[in-house]
Amino acid sequence: MAEIQLYNTAARAKVPLEPLVTPGHPKMYVCGPTVYDRAHLGNARPAIVFDVLYRLLRHTYGAENVTYVRNFTDVDDKINAEARRRMEAGTPGTMEELIRARSDETIAWYLEDMAAVGVSEPDEMPRATEYIGQMVAMIAALIERGHAYEAEGHVLFAVRSYDAYGKLSGRSVDDMIAGARVEVAPYKADPMDFVLWKPSSAEEPGWDSPWGRGRPGWHIECSAMAADLLGESFDIHGGGNDLIFPHHENEIAQSKCMNHAFARIWMHNEMLQVEGKKMSKSLGNFFTVRDLLDQGVPGEVIRFVMLSTHYRKPMDWTTEKAREAEATLRKWHGIVGDTAPGNLPEAVIDALSDDLNTAGAIAELHRLARDGDAAGLAAGLDILGIGLLPPESAGEIPNDVRTLIETLIDARRTARAEKDFARADALRDGFAAAGLIVKDTSEGAEWEIGPDFDPARLEALT
Ligand code: AMP
Ligand code: ZN
Repeated sequence: MAEIQLYNTAARAKVPLEPLVTPGHPKMYVCGPTVYDRAHLGNARPAIVFDVLYRLLRHTYGAENVTYVRNFTDVDDKINAEARRRMEAGTPGTMEELIRARSDETIAWYLEDMAAVGVSEPDEMPRATEYIGQMVAMIAALIERGHAYEAEGHVLFAVRSYDAYGKLSGRSVDDMIAGARVEVAPYKADPMDFVLWKPSSAEEPGWDSPWGRGRPGWHIECSAMAADLLGESFDIHGGGNDLIFPHHENEIAQSKCMNHAFARIWMHNEMLQVEGKKMSKSLGNFFTVRDLLDQGVPGEVIRFVMLSTHYRKPMDWTTEKAREAEATLRKWHGIVGDTAPGNLPEAVIDALSDDLNTAGAIAELHRLARDGDAAGLAAGLDILGIGLLPPESAGEIPNDVRTLIETLIDARRTARAEKDFARADALRDGFAAAGLIVKDTSEGAEWEIGPDFDPARLEALT
């Protein structure tokens, strides 16, 4: 079997996954969402990418021999802001209750939306608020070791106390100061120093600590949860490449200064764009996973499109790709039918073992489909977590669309009978453009809908 190789951002090279920290048992931590709102399409990318890695690891080492942790960041000012908005709008409950309700509902949405795109649940999904004690202990130890200091109710990490700071992103501290939007605050000894703990006002969520009532900074959350659940040393740490600096750089600084070996391999997915542009609210191309599902884009299609691009390349979401993916998944359904997955084809495993080359694995699935290897195709789909879509049957077409189709086919018959060939041809071309397949038989016209069927284009023909 192929040796698993993964691109390690810290080494700027592909490295073998082995030797593992615990032989035979890979351990992985991935930074999860901040739970203040629905996951946007970009947030689904790391969830799907690391889910495929999780499936590959379970396949290679056995399902019981893999530990995958993905956290929920449920301490965040955006969660507090939503709770405050609700309170001001008259929702009953204390701030604490409203904050908890917002986090709970967002976590439930996240799990539901990720399940819809085929993401299996990690072994552990810690919430930051459940690990405050571990964070406080780590911060106290960092102060003791001379890597952190208290100032005006804050605790800051002293970046200059850690020589290797900036190694992950390959930048010096001075370069980072020049390029970064670091918050300058009077209580910081150095502008690059970052917050480990900060004071909370009476209405903000807070916990008692040696430095007064407050809450942790974002970076210490991951260092503390990873150490608690995976130990001081583990194999893989992942997330989007927007997290390399400062989040991962800071996680490394904190953990290394605790003398933890921490993660050996750092993996980062590139960003998702939409129709060639950065997804943003101001460009009007921002949407959530739920928006797409509600528009009728199947979760299987979202996943297939995501995996068609290698995770280290920018990924462009387009409706064209979604349409093609849907047609492929319906066609493959016809090939696989109810065939049980066979042995996983070597070429699929080889592609995935080569730094998670999902695009290569999908090319292999196309080959298996061409060869009519239903059992191999089923096995390949299985490890990628891609479900198939049944062919669209006339039975699924809503009645009003069915009536419209029959009215238009009637209109074409009438046009032909009246020798209005211009109208008859326009209807024929319109059917083709709408993805409606009409066949003339001795019994009259028969129709079925093709993979690109678009009833809106039929409306225009009436
Ligand atoms: P957040 O909730 O913003 O902390 O993000 C959760 C995860 O989604 C992190 O791993 C981010 O790196 C990732 N992420 C955010 N935006 C995008 C995007 N446009 N494309 C790919 N990944 C993203
Ligand atoms: Zn993190």
